[in-house]
Amino acid sequence: MNFCSQCGARVSLKVPAGDALPRFVCDACATIHYQNPKLIVGCIPEWEDRILLCRRAIEPRRGLWTLPAGFMENGETTMAGAARETLEEANARVNVMQLFAVYNIPHISQVYVLFRARLLDLDYSAGEESLEVRLFTEHEVPWDEIAFATVRNTLTHYFDDRRLGHFGMHVGTIETPSRATAR
Ligand SMILES: [Zn+2]
Repeated sequence: MNFCSQCGARVSLKVPAGDALPRFVCDACATIHYQNPKLIVGCIPEWEDRILLCRRAIEPRRGLWTLPAGFMENGETTMAGAARETLEEANARVNVMQLFAVYNIPHISQVYVLFRARLLDLDYSAGEESLEVRLFTEHEVPWDEIAFATVRNTLTHYFDDRRLGHFGMHVGTIETPSRATAR
């Protein structure tokens, strides 16, 4: 951040009085511009024994497969955001069910919140940000072409839980882009 969004003057990075962390503070109007993690909400859309994945049409990880998910908007709930992202990326309507996974990704200040969801019909297609959308059984999932560690972990837990006959709630932390710890 270089300029104040309130008055347009320059900002400086400093620790405000009574605070513990450096913030962007306006040199002119003294507004403190707090920056906090972003929430990414999404779905695991189910249809019988298959789940819906989207092949990304955008960077990062263009061409790789992911669950429909994206940045939560102001004024919406996590469930509504997850359903909206599924509609935008896969033109698919879902009934959002159970909270399934929460992943912290501290090195990029993001938190993923993923829900199990039931597809309401098979009328889906690639949205603007997808090259292709299709249903996969566990054995059809392109494990070597999954876009993100969060998605790979979520799908692994999903199929493990389904085999056990009980869907749990999974909280994990992705430490680096390549290594992940999760439960
Ligand atoms: Zn200012």
